[in-house]
Amino acid sequence: MAKNEQTAENAQLKDIIAHAKEYGFVYPSSEIYDGLQAVYDYGAYGVELKNNLKRLWWETMTRLNDNIVGIDAAIFMHPTTWKASGHVDSFNDPMIDNKDSKKRYRADVLIEDKAAAYENAGDKERAQQLLSAMGRLLEAEDLAGVRDLIVNEEIKCPISGTSNWTDVRQFNLMFSTQVGSVAEDASTIYLRPETAQGIFVNFLNVQKTARMKVPFGIAQIGKAFRNEIVARQFIFRMREFEQMEMQFFVRPGTELDWYKQWAETRMKWHKALGIPEEKLRRHDHEKLAHYANAAMDIEYQFPFGFKEVEGIHSRTDFDLKSHQEYSKKKQQYFDPEINQNYIPYVIETSIGADRLFLMTLCNAYVDEEVDGKQRTYLKFHPAVAPVKAAILPLTKKDGLPEKAHEIVEALKYDFNIIYEEAASIGKRYTRQDLIGTPFCIAVDHQTLEDNTVTIRHRDTTEQERVAIADLHGRLAEACSFRRVFERV
Ligand code: ATP
Repeated sequence: MAKNEQTAENAQLKDIIAHAKEYGFVYPSSEIYDGLQAVYDYGAYGVELKNNLKRLWWETMTRLNDNIVGIDAAIFMHPTTWKASGHVDSFNDPMIDNKDSKKRYRADVLIEDKAAAYENAGDKERAQQLLSAMGRLLEAEDLAGVRDLIVNEEIKCPISGTSNWTDVRQFNLMFSTQVGSVAEDASTIYLRPETAQGIFVNFLNVQKTARMKVPFGIAQIGKAFRNEIVARQFIFRMREFEQMEMQFFVRPGTELDWYKQWAETRMKWHKALGIPEEKLRRHDHEKLAHYANAAMDIEYQFPFGFKEVEGIHSRTDFDLKSHQEYSKKKQQYFDPEINQNYIPYVIETSIGADRLFLMTLCNAYVDEEVDGKQRTYLKFHPAVAPVKAAILPLTKKDGLPEKAHEIVEALKYDFNIIYEEAASIGKRYTRQDLIGTPFCIAVDHQTLEDNTVTIRHRDTTEQERVAIADLHGRLAEACSFRRVFERV
């Protein structure tokens, strides 16, 4: 990316962050105390959008697939869980400090940014060579080699502009705390860094009690916590975030077919939500995690470049086998079709609710000039829009508010509706555009005569006259998850 292009992209992110704050989507956490780095709160419209996205994911998983069920496991888990999963020993990021600015960076991210700069300058080969060299060094845990790479590539600290780097060290990303009130009895436990392990330790409980047969999946939405070294890019990288993960248990040997299938299904899901094909790409991992035999990311072109939104991993039988070893409890499944016991292999789909939120917001944000006037609106898919319709009486008198309230009453049990009577109708339309309400329903004097209203469509600003009796059906049709599902 050329420098001026980069500045424009950063300006776009800044606009989106400012919009998110000003119109009730996302605020810095505990802002009155100047915030807490990499922690954010969702506001009135943000929480609606996030809930809709979570519900859409949940229902895609559990309703469109009769072999997937959900669970809700606790955030705290027995500490041995994280020994077995490998997180205590190896959930590390390589970090490096600049001695002049005293700023800390992730060594791999510095190198990836350099590779992206080569790629943007048209030197794909050099970018690839650099990434491969980094992959080899990290694989060999050669941290001195990673530092040499940073120095040889003349990577500088963006703050101090110098290459005065410390050694590269490993940093464990798990937060720990104590359970138990008496100091001597207290033991260290962790805030889960991923939701997946809550699924693995419940594999047999769910399989037996929900009478599932392999292949089957378990889905979960929940908080996860990582002490990220570098927190940046708004809600892209948070220390407290939410994951939506699904572990799909399959017969050993069939995992790579299922991996392929899930990769395609998940890519389709993003497109069905209205993300343009050219803004999505698939990134196959070269360096595989210790548990995987295939892995890829679905990346979205954020204002700061293509970045991971969702990971799809073929996790082999690593997790269940390891829990079997540590817990000494068999994690086997008896497959009646082939008359065999085995530990299933697992395909995981893992997406952050907050990253999905950011992608949806970036994709929806439109700031355009129409007839010499600037117009900003959020073009959310109606199925996930925080507010589905605003009911707006043209004036505050002549019985129009009463009529408008009748309409609210008829719709509010099925749709999130806003009623607003203050300010001119134009201003009220603008306000709804800014929070992405797909339909504005105006109640005027004609409404009192013939029970019709005007619907104003957010994206086109076109208006049409519709009978009140048809409103419920029209909204239900436009906002139904079916609109998204039928494209998956
Ligand atoms: P990254 O390389 O960006 O650190 P990761 O590969 O460690 O991500 P996974 O462990 O595969 O991520 O987690 C699965 C998903 O969880 C990611 O695709 C992302 O959507 C989300 N996620 C992970 N870490 C964070 C975070 N710190 N803040 C917000 N979302 C996150």
